[in-house]
Amino acid sequence: MTKDLAEFTTFHLGGPAAKLHIGETRDELVDFSRDHPLSLSAQPAADVLFIGGGSNLLVSDSGFDADVCVIATKGVTMTDTSETETRVTAEAGENWDEFVAFTLGCGLSGLEALSGIPGSVGATPIQNVGAYGTEVAELITSVEVFDRLAGQIRHLSAVELEFGYRTSALKRAQQRTGTAQYLVLSVTFDLNRSPDSLPVRYAQLASALDVEIGESVPATLVRTSVISLRRSKGMVVDPGDHDTWSAGSFFTNPIVDDPAELPAEAPRYPVTDPLSGSTIEGRTKTSAAWLIEHAGFSKGFSVGEGRASLSTKHTLALTNRGQAATEDVLELARTVVDGVNEKFGIVLEPEPTFIACSL
Ligand SMILES: Cc1cc2nc3c(=O)[nH]c(=O)nc-3n(C[C@H](O)[C@H](O)[C@H](O)COP(=O)(O)OP(=O)(O)OC[C@H]3O[C@@H](n4cnc5c(N)ncnc54)[C@H](O)[C@@H]3O)c2cc1C
Repeated sequence: MTKDLAEFTTFHLGGPAAKLHIGETRDELVDFSRDHPLSLSAQPAADVLFIGGGSNLLVSDSGFDADVCVIATKGVTMTDTSETETRVTAEAGENWDEFVAFTLGCGLSGLEALSGIPGSVGATPIQNVGAYGTEVAELITSVEVFDRLAGQIRHLSAVELEFGYRTSALKRAQQRTGTAQYLVLSVTFDLNRSPDSLPVRYAQLASALDVEIGESVPATLVRTSVISLRRSKGMVVDPGDHDTWSAGSFFTNPIVDDPAELPAEAPRYPVTDPLSGSTIEGRTKTSAAWLIEHAGFSKGFSVGEGRASLSTKHTLALTNRGQAATEDVLELARTVVDGVNEKFGIVLEPEPTFIACSL
């Protein structure tokens, strides 16, 4: 089957795949991975591409000249592990936001602040998905993977996943080898059997809920509030709204060792350890959106003929206005990176995975 990968990405961008497989069962995924072993003795190269919801991918206009496997497995299982906690395992192809809604509907809390994020469950541990003060790392107990290097299924604990801000051992392995070493088969979460949310940690969310930071409210209320905040920023996928033809935030928030490296006015946030929640001393995070705005790029900024632009609702999202090519998005991204670097001496790092293209 040959198809344009644009059909599978929220950017609506990407040329054809050499071969496209849809993995609807766990056996199909494992067989595909066994048929595509990873050998580090060969020159590392992107030899396969796994796609979940395609919401964190920028694929080249020329497509991907190797096998693509779309993860489409479904299924959720639950076991009560204590008086207060339930262990929930979801297959990788489950839709993330539907899964969050399902857990809340079962009276389980923890994932509410991560409502409205597009994509699949299986992709969430890869970049330690986070929003509104919560990261999946806090709730994940283990991840079941097929390790293409070892040729076997493995269970990686939260500690082995070495989560960091928008990263994990899974992502670092991919960056090291230039291709996916691990196929995520399922993800296991420990959630609270409680109608109450985790303490609200994000100032804008607290204000929208009219509570103090640290207070809990009904978890379903957090979900409603987060989705409405996200929608106002174009951060809920809506095919009719070009502000959402994106990969969400295009750049990660820079982290520096010396706060003096940051412009005096730039916001400063502590960097926390995703598992313990404790502050990592000596590291400071700033806002990529602030840097972009203060380097002179406002909402809606575009280059060339305007086929790609910054979202009209949020400077951190690069968007396809309907007729863009991947090259248009790359040109826009390069302009923003160069502008921020010239003004502040900080090189922004892209968040999405680039396939057969680069900045
Ligand atoms: C409007 C919008 C808002 C967003 N908001 C947020 C946000 O608030 N916070 C946030 O963290 N992210 C956000 N994102 C980014 C994105 O939704 C997340 O990173 C999401 O987890 C990606 O899931 P996916 O299934 O779409 O992954 P894909 O885009 O399909 O893939 C992303 C990467 O993961 C790999 N991958 C996917 N599934 C598997 C698997 N099962 N096994 C191995 N590798 C796999 C792919 O090969 C690729 O490298 C947003 C994106 C959009 C479009």
